Amino acid sequence: MPHPQKVGFVSLGCPKALVDSERILTQLRFDGYELSPSYEDAGVVIVNTCGFIDSAKEESLAAIGEALEENGRVLVTGCMGGGEQADLVLERHPKVLGITGPAAYEEVLSEVRRVLPNQHTPDPKIDLIPAQGVKLTPRHYAYLKISEGCNHRCRFCIIPSLRGDLVSRPIGDVMREAEQLVRSGVKELLVISQDTSAYGVDLKYKTDFWDGRPLKTNMQSLATALGDLGAWVRMHYVYPYPHVDQVIPLMAEGKVLPYLDIPLQHGSPTVLKRMKRPAASEKTLDRIQSWRSVCPDITLRSTFIVGFPGETESEFNELLDFIKEAKLDRVGCFKYSAVEGATANELDNPVPEEVKEERWHRFMALQQEISADRLQQRVGQSIDVMIDEIGADGAVGRSKGDAPEIDGVVYVADAANLKPGDIVNRRVLDADDYDLWTA
Ligand code: SF4
Repeated sequence: MPHPQKVGFVSLGCPKALVDSERILTQLRFDGYELSPSYEDAGVVIVNTCGFIDSAKEESLAAIGEALEENGRVLVTGCMGGGEQADLVLERHPKVLGITGPAAYEEVLSEVRRVLPNQHTPDPKIDLIPAQGVKLTPRHYAYLKISEGCNHRCRFCIIPSLRGDLVSRPIGDVMREAEQLVRSGVKELLVISQDTSAYGVDLKYKTDFWDGRPLKTNMQSLATALGDLGAWVRMHYVYPYPHVDQVIPLMAEGKVLPYLDIPLQHGSPTVLKRMKRPAASEKTLDRIQSWRSVCPDITLRSTFIVGFPGETESEFNELLDFIKEAKLDRVGCFKYSAVEGATANELDNPVPEEVKEERWHRFMALQQEISADRLQQRVGQSIDVMIDEIGADGAVGRSKGDAPEIDGVVYVADAANLKPGDIVNRRVLDADDYDLWTA
């Protein structure tokens, strides 16, 4: 029997790109290809690229260069494979064998078949692929991508030009994938998209079926149905629209995690308008207050940009006042940097680098105090911890308020008989600015 061909894979970029990689890998395995952990054994190497910001582009171009040097036969896919960015790749690396854009699963597969025809026909008895697909994330949590693209046109962002308008997956499809993941041992589902609150708008919220149960394709019925699977369900990239209020009671009831990732980007209405942000005119502070009154344990995470073109000192102070009042638990902050192709580049009054730097430090110092204060309130409480890793000095896990890779961690001293994916209840003994310590 001929040996199966081997494919190498380099996955870069955000969780959405990781989901694309997982899908491509699953399909490759299904087609009888084997995955190669090293460059030398691979008949071809696929590089899934990220083109979101300039440093990510450079990282992608360097990864392609390395794969070409080490192996020589390289296919490029992902964000840098679409539109003008593809020209940049070909200019720098003319020897790549093929190039496809983001989420182009079928095209990647046909490119692989073209450059590396497989003699090996998969035998379902031997070539079993796990029911949940091939996952690059640890076994106990998985990203669940519910849509692709975005209908907004935020001035600093080029995702719509890379990925197009919003295309939601029918809810039955999403639920079947989620169910398979949970059945195969996944304990936490991380719902991702570019705009989770807009889920289903392109499908006019049409009714679909899962397990004979009619479900509307919208965020609320998705959260309700996912909540029935018995896993932790974490919602990312949610904008503060009024209909999001309907999901908060599900958090209070413990159906989905009391956690919302809401990328707010600024606290000044005039900057938000200049950014062309979705939900710019919503009364976000009122909304946050009402969410907390329904679900007092809710953890709110957000990201902000300082130094957007035209940001005045008084607009920046409005942002500081906003975060003082919002008291968000987890916050990331970026200094604005121009992204090629973004319409923000045409705006007047760029903020000088030293002013951006100084504002970033002021913002971070204030938010650090707020985060530390919020975490101190947890000391003495008993919390559920999902174990991620076991080490020599105990285990490292996360509370319901910590998403993997972006938030803090919980250190668990007594790790006897624990394994990744276990959920244990522990008393919080101490906290610093970002992390918790338990017994
Ligand atoms: S909401 Fe704005 S920042 Fe987010 S993907 Fe859409 S255009 Fe980009």
